[in-house]
Amino acid sequence: MNRPLVALLSGAGISTDSGIPDYRGPDGLWRRDPEAEKLVTYASYMGDPEIRRRSWQMRRRVGALAAEPNAAHRAVVELERSGTPVRVITQNVDGLHQLAGMPARKVFELHGTAREFVCTRCPARGPMQDALARLDAGEDDPPCLECGAILKPATVMFGEHLDPVVLGRAAAVAKACQIFLAVGSSLQVHPAAGLVGVAADHGARLIVVNAEPTPYDGIADEVVREPIGTSLPGLLRGLAASGTV
Ligand code: ZN
Repeated sequence: MNRPLVALLSGAGISTDSGIPDYRGPDGLWRRDPEAEKLVTYASYMGDPEIRRRSWQMRRRVGALAAEPNAAHRAVVELERSGTPVRVITQNVDGLHQLAGMPARKVFELHGTAREFVCTRCPARGPMQDALARLDAGEDDPPCLECGAILKPATVMFGEHLDPVVLGRAAAVAKACQIFLAVGSSLQVHPAAGLVGVAADHGARLIVVNAEPTPYDGIADEVVREPIGTSLPGLLRGLAASGTV
């Protein structure tokens, strides 16, 4: 029997139980604090060494790399390991789906990852821990060790385009899936939110799991308002057991 493909779009809400606040949503921390937003805005970051120094210090202070996956991340892995094909499309940069055990090739990170740094000129890339270790050693704006250019986190900053390859793969998943779950996302940031419409247009069963109403609730087959950490594990087990998956 062919098992249907499940696509899961995750937003900040899936990681709040892991202690990670919503930074970049419409009501996120960045948007509410213009000074903080500069730290993650490409033009400010590239144009001002002081902004870069503060941005690196913020990363060092926040300690996001220490966050652990929670029950919702683990439930997605459990579904995948049960033999159901699962693909995760995420707006999060925390890497917690992979840390929970999702194979990296099945996770599409629309906004990149905070767990790595990239060079802004050459293909150099590496673990964020290595960049933070250079801060600990006294550097305040560590340049690329290969070419000397500016380093930045491997996240998509405000003012940067999403990676078209990642976006293309995510759109292909949205078109191909039979079940599309939108979990912990306000579904107000495009193009991520638009994937919901793509999935629905291609006949997927749409399930929205979010504390607050979303613009897509009206076309959803099911809307779940209960906390993600408690509702998602049961929901996914229910899908697997019912034969719907
Ligand atoms: Zn470089």
